[in-house]
Amino acid sequence: MVKTNCSSNKAAIEERISALIGEMTLAEKIGQMNQVSAAMDNPVPELGEALRAGRIGSILNVVDLVTVNELQRIAVEESRLGIPLLVGRDVIHGFNTVLPIPLGQAATWNPELVRAGARVAASEAAAVGINCTLAPMVDITRDPRWGRIAESPGEDPHLASRLAVAMVEGFQAEDLGAPDAIAACAKHFAGYGASESGRDYATTDMSEHELRNVHLQPFKAAVDVGVAALMTSFSDLNGIPATANAFLTRDILRDEWGFDGVLVSDWNSIPELAVHGLTDGDKASALAAAQAGVDMDMASGTYISHLADLVSEGQISEKIIDESVANILRVKFRLGLFGNSYVDTQRFPAMDYATKLQVAKQVALQSIILLKNENLTLPLSKDRIRSLAVIGPLADAPYEQLGTWIFDGDPGLSVTVLQGIRELAADTTEIRYVCAMETSRSKASEAFDEAVEQAANADAVVLVLGEESILSGEAHSRADINLPGAQAELVRQISRTGRPVIGVILAGRPLTLTNIIDEVDALLFAWHPGTMGGEAIAELLFGMQSPSGKLPVTFPRMVGQVPIYYNQKNTGRPPSPEVVDLIDDIPVGAHQTAYGNASFHLDAGYTPLFNFGFGLSYAQFTYENLRLSSGEIRVGESVTVSVDLTNNSETGGDEVVQLYIRDLVASVTRPVKELKGFKRVRIEPGETIGIDFELHTDDLAYYGRGNTLTTEPGDFHVWIGGSSQAELRGEFRVVDAD
Ligand code: BGC
Repeated sequence: MVKTNCSSNKAAIEERISALIGEMTLAEKIGQMNQVSAAMDNPVPELGEALRAGRIGSILNVVDLVTVNELQRIAVEESRLGIPLLVGRDVIHGFNTVLPIPLGQAATWNPELVRAGARVAASEAAAVGINCTLAPMVDITRDPRWGRIAESPGEDPHLASRLAVAMVEGFQAEDLGAPDAIAACAKHFAGYGASESGRDYATTDMSEHELRNVHLQPFKAAVDVGVAALMTSFSDLNGIPATANAFLTRDILRDEWGFDGVLVSDWNSIPELAVHGLTDGDKASALAAAQAGVDMDMASGTYISHLADLVSEGQISEKIIDESVANILRVKFRLGLFGNSYVDTQRFPAMDYATKLQVAKQVALQSIILLKNENLTLPLSKDRIRSLAVIGPLADAPYEQLGTWIFDGDPGLSVTVLQGIRELAADTTEIRYVCAMETSRSKASEAFDEAVEQAANADAVVLVLGEESILSGEAHSRADINLPGAQAELVRQISRTGRPVIGVILAGRPLTLTNIIDEVDALLFAWHPGTMGGEAIAELLFGMQSPSGKLPVTFPRMVGQVPIYYNQKNTGRPPSPEVVDLIDDIPVGAHQTAYGNASFHLDAGYTPLFNFGFGLSYAQFTYENLRLSSGEIRVGESVTVSVDLTNNSETGGDEVVQLYIRDLVASVTRPVKELKGFKRVRIEPGETIGIDFELHTDDLAYYGRGNTLTTEPGDFHVWIGGSSQAELRGEFRVVDAD
């Protein structure tokens, strides 16, 4: 839990805020609401004048300590009221040391480790004067076409909420006033992850039921642990773009949740209200956003140009402006910027370089998912492999393994897969490297012959494939999520050599792997694993560690199945394996209803290629003896659900134990399964451990009819296992409290 200021401290801050606002001119207030980017069209020297005049409350994208301190000095010492600046930057998955992309971090199912990763990022960023990151991104998405899935925590509200909390706690530390803590900003509020067809910035249209039960969950979790800021989404939600959607930004965020931090627009999203067709121009956009309670205008200058006129014309009351300014000043006070405006790196110990790399490697190790391992192809035995072919466009690509949003990442620090393998392989093992393709998108196949020749003469082949960084991230959606370029053909040709083929995929999203899965003996999915990716992958290949990542998102067989996600509704006509298996044999002229009517695709069935929560290990785990402390509990009580987990192998490893429930009958239809708990445990060869989950009826609550939070009595199923396909099932009943 992030420490919040004690109440007397809070009251003192509120007094200081009121006093300060009392002294401010309208222009100075509006200045606080103006966030400018220093990097683009505002060269730093020219900012000085605006700072002196109190026309800027926050700057973005200055990452040089001397410059930040100078800008703070001007704001604090040369402006009339001396209000320090919020200094923001997209510190999304690391700063100089790059951690795996957030979707990869979600695959660790390890909030403590994710928190440690955010701590590393915060301490590096704080050291150059950044006091606010534009992260975490907590948009739930079920669409792998969307480029920003790379930044997302995946498809599940429970997992996403736990990770949102971990990241906020990591960035903001125990005390937001600590010198190496930075304010977190949960984004993009809300619904962005549901953009139609996974096309970035596209419209979202969803029921309030879906919004509350799925998409708002991680935002609420972030607010509950004291996130300092939220950012609105670019997207249109049910006809009102999020940046002017007062239902979201006032009714839910402020009135229901009691959020008292800063709500910032997204980049230029205020003037874009006119482009959406909600307003007839910038002035009306400024009015709509300010009325919706958007406190700060990111990068557009629309507030500074229009808010004063809007107040003097009586279109908006100064009280609304005062509320926004109070929210902004509150975060500045919480950060301790009044009094400690300058960054003095002597005030906090620089994090030891080795520790940072160790955290980055640990996150990478736990994020990588073993999707297939036929005939125990992995791990490779160092002693037996005399020659290893390492092939593929991403095998030695220091920049491409870092992923999207790495403005400050240093590719010079990257350990590539090739380097990692060279480092760990036995001295006697000959490593034969062939890049084979210029980029992951190349269609040319001239170099394939050489790759095939090297593969044919090697004891095993490691094929490092996937997507370059630029193929995911903002505005980088794809309609085809197969491996790009000629990669599938490369896999086919290498596979024909008959050598053991190990695929390693680096990518910013789930890919459709149906066309290559049968061509490889083993497959590791490593996301964009960041700085230490190559070392982590090599340790897994050689069995120094056992893979333990689990999918935070469903992998479809083909893109036409999207959206496909585990926590779907049952429908009135759920499919059954028997019917689907018959489909290939439908005789010509069969009667329309001969095979029943069920909810599936004729050409893809109804199951994904890989389920949510799935991930193999070198160890073999067995789940047994699911038991409940009681078969019946009252509303307000808890039930303990336990299971025995045994490691039936000679390899130790981590397992992510997952608990799912189903609410069988409810006043609003409920998903077929819902994740309600998970634990990552280490389990040694031959060991059996008991694992307990405490499930409170509050954990079963959902937004029902009338969109209010409710816990309904009734029957529940509960499963525990190693994926969303967990088979061990128990049952319990919830009854009324009285
Ligand atoms: C993105 C935000 C980001 C902002 C500032 C926008 O385009 O949507 O997520 O924080 O730019 O870089």
